[in-house]
Amino acid sequence: MRIDILTVLPEMIEGALNCSILKRAQEKGLAEIYLHNLRDYSTDKWRRVDDYPFGGEAGMVMQIEPIDRAISALKEERTYDEVIFTSPDGERFDQPMANRLSMLGNLILLCGHYKGIDYRIREHLITKEISIGDYVLTGGELAAAVIADAVVRLLPGAIGDEQSALSDSFQDGLLAPPVYTRPAEYKGWKVPDILLSGHTLKIEEWRLQQAQERTARLRPDLLSD
Ligand code: SAH
Repeated sequence: MRIDILTVLPEMIEGALNCSILKRAQEKGLAEIYLHNLRDYSTDKWRRVDDYPFGGEAGMVMQIEPIDRAISALKEERTYDEVIFTSPDGERFDQPMANRLSMLGNLILLCGHYKGIDYRIREHLITKEISIGDYVLTGGELAAAVIADAVVRLLPGAIGDEQSALSDSFQDGLLAPPVYTRPAEYKGWKVPDILLSGHTLKIEEWRLQQAQERTARLRPDLLSD
């Protein structure tokens, strides 16, 4: 899969993409992620990409031209399944959406900044708008990093143990059961006996029961869905 991220602050996303599983997924050729600085597509001699809003509101708005030029340049090279804008009023990002996106081939992620982007871009160029939650960030960079991380870790081979992604919270509509590692006892704090029993079937039953109990207690809304 290929993800092209359009931003005025590539350095804000770079670190997140070049660590751990995302880094390995790119090294293994499972994902190609490219950062594009929107200022490179500005025709202004100061490389400006924003301007004052019509109607005299406070704050600045990202202009159409650099964004249109960036998206057009990418579309000339290949076709894209989705041109996504990160926005607090978009569709709420969740695990089923991450699963769906992970099955696509080429994605563009556009990061807004300032007051947002000229609305005509959303009307004419964007195919999907995603919010990562009901709060306002200073820019779409962290949102794009969150989306790329959640999607790329799902690509087959990205995580060493395939089962591991499938047993995460939300994948089966349940929160994950607790996990433990050595030592079996620390300062008198013990690991549940069942996990040391070696009885695979009973352990699976315990995990499911824990997942159901934690979901009912912490996220009853997931069960009613
Ligand atoms: N004035 C806008 C917010 C602008 S915040 C409004 O009230 O809707 C600047 C940019 O940050 C946005 O254009 C968007 O790209 C990004 N952003 C902010 N909060 C976000 C969120 N919860 N999810 C995804 N992107 C977000």
